[in-house]
Amino acid sequence: MVSPLFQCLTLSAVRFIASVPRVENSVFVFVHKLNRTSLSSDALTINSQILAANSPVKSLFTEGDVFVPMTRNARICNNCRWPTSGSLVQVPYTVSASFSSTEMNVINSAINGFHLSTCIRFVPYKDQTNYISIVKKDGCWSLVGLTGGSQEISLGVGCIQNGIIQHEIIHALGFWHEQSRSDRNIYVKINYENIQTGLEGNFQQLETNNLNVPYDYSSVMHYGPKDFSKNGGDTITPLNPSATIGQRIGMSENDILKINKLYSCGAQKRSILGGSM
Ligand SMILES: [Zn+2]
Repeated sequence: MVSPLFQCLTLSAVRFIASVPRVENSVFVFVHKLNRTSLSSDALTINSQILAANSPVKSLFTEGDVFVPMTRNARICNNCRWPTSGSLVQVPYTVSASFSSTEMNVINSAINGFHLSTCIRFVPYKDQTNYISIVKKDGCWSLVGLTGGSQEISLGVGCIQNGIIQHEIIHALGFWHEQSRSDRNIYVKINYENIQTGLEGNFQQLETNNLNVPYDYSSVMHYGPKDFSKNGGDTITPLNPSATIGQRIGMSENDILKINKLYSCGAQKRSILGGSM
């Protein structure tokens, strides 16, 4: 069973990020042990892993891992795309020196996945106005879309996995969770009776631009079936009984397609998961 989630923020993200308390590793270890008493590690979905990692700072987020500044309407993402330069979209970024070489390899591999599949190019920061700062704070979290200036993606303890890193980066590129889509009720049933009391807001349906891409059960941005469950029962049930949700491998073909459509990328490139587009 995953940890609870949260209300929208009441202060600016900048101040929140600056004030995130340090949490000792032992707390995280406890959280992970707690999860594994009710759900095997193999069964942990990408979102449940994110929620577990974020548990000590859970009150800072909406939808588990998304910072929402009060200074803008985060539900509307009209001007949150990173700018296109020629046929590519350059996203300047820095990575904290606090990551180990092993962690850096995983981060670089996850980033390279975007280079192989999309027109997004993460480039070293060189005094650009807007850039992503990948940091090692408490939990896994990101803002949604380009927010202006320096914006952080946190990859804390429990977050250094390809799927989680790509999940947070996709938030920063402008996407919310898949089950928030405007058409989600055609594809999934939300079981409110199983959601932890007070956390129903994490299952909001949003007005989203779906880019004519089909609803994607296999999206790395999709919640798992038991996320936010209070009783072990499923909180989200795919209406297609053969569908599974909450994969943690990495970007799906439709995740890639959506990025390429949002950013008007050229010819589609091969999928990270090995399939053709
Ligand atoms: Zn997320």
